[in-house]
Amino acid sequence: MDDQIVCIGCGAVLQSDNPQEAGYLPISRLQQAIESGDEGSDIYCQRCFRLRHYNEIMPVNADNDDFLKLLNSLATKKALVVNVVDLFDFTNSLLSSLKRFIGENDFILVGNKFDLFPDNSRQSKIKDWMRQEANRAGLFPKKIFLVSAKNKKNLTQLITYLDQKSREQDVYFVGMTNVGKSTLLNAIVDQMGDVKNLITTSRFPGTTLAKIEIPLANGHFLIDTPGILTQNQLVTHLNTKELAVVSPQKQLKPVTFQLSPGNSLFLAGLGRVDFLKGEKASFTVYAARGLYIHRTKTANADAFYTKHIGELLSPPTKEDNLPSLKGQEYHTSNKSDLLFGGIGFITVPANCLVKIYTPGQIGLGIRRALI
Ligand code: GDP
Repeated sequence: MDDQIVCIGCGAVLQSDNPQEAGYLPISRLQQAIESGDEGSDIYCQRCFRLRHYNEIMPVNADNDDFLKLLNSLATKKALVVNVVDLFDFTNSLLSSLKRFIGENDFILVGNKFDLFPDNSRQSKIKDWMRQEANRAGLFPKKIFLVSAKNKKNLTQLITYLDQKSREQDVYFVGMTNVGKSTLLNAIVDQMGDVKNLITTSRFPGTTLAKIEIPLANGHFLIDTPGILTQNQLVTHLNTKELAVVSPQKQLKPVTFQLSPGNSLFLAGLGRVDFLKGEKASFTVYAARGLYIHRTKTANADAFYTKHIGELLSPPTKEDNLPSLKGQEYHTSNKSDLLFGGIGFITVPANCLVKIYTPGQIGLGIRRALI
């Protein structure tokens, strides 16, 4: 087979090996195209096909080098940069490297998956926390939005803002993988009616390997860039089935445990908290409903973990090759959330000494309680 057949949409070499990479087309479709003699004429990769016919944006993965090249080109043009972050794994989904690239350009943060937060969550508190974290990473967002791409919550404000800003410049969407960037862009395209028409009618969006350009009626573009993979996100270490268990799909329902010093909790095999010192207290767990939570005595916890990891304490499975749980001590000077990036958080009162663990300390952290 000639391995140089390219997609006429994006120019990527067509391949059937990896659906996550550019130019993917299922082998049956590729063969069909070759056999029918269409070779080199009208063959689209799956991603361009879906974009063209269903207005559906499929994520592409690129390595960090490709992405850095794209970012490098940003500082030289006028653009609005939108960093989509996962509110449930915020610290690890913030693109701190952006500060080197945006130049004089404006930058906004869009915190996605707001639907997971309980109804009594205060938006102002969440935004304050996001701003502080961003500032700590050297980033100064012009604006912060909290949205749910999935439930189309709070999208109107964001779209109005983008509509206005895109009159003067292109809008670049950047983000780590799994933050919901594709879902968000699909929702935005869906609500901006004229975008939909432009995609389906005459103008075929100029897609390249590293980005998808979605035309707007005002002559500018919404530009989707590849999701960045990082080892600092637990999600990149888990398979699809495990992700389904771990990633909360519905609004978080808190589960409270009364703990005394000397007690521990496991969040399946992906998190652990030891209550080391303090008064008897309520530990409130916010995590996916199906996640197995086990309470035990701290004195027995190591042995319990060794015996049950990958089985009762699963995910992870033994095949995941995740590092073992590694802990860090924290003292809570206020009511605080202990963070297990991507898995959940545990709210504890002030004046507790705790040790919290995740695999290799990935996604570990603490913040002032949000709820
Ligand atoms: P991308 O890698 O950033 O493009 O992320 P996707 O759009 O593929 O979404 C990653 C995962 O997050 C999927 O399982 C989505 O269903 C989920 N997701 C996306 N947006 C939301 C949202 O607003 N709320 C919730 N709860 N999940 C979402």
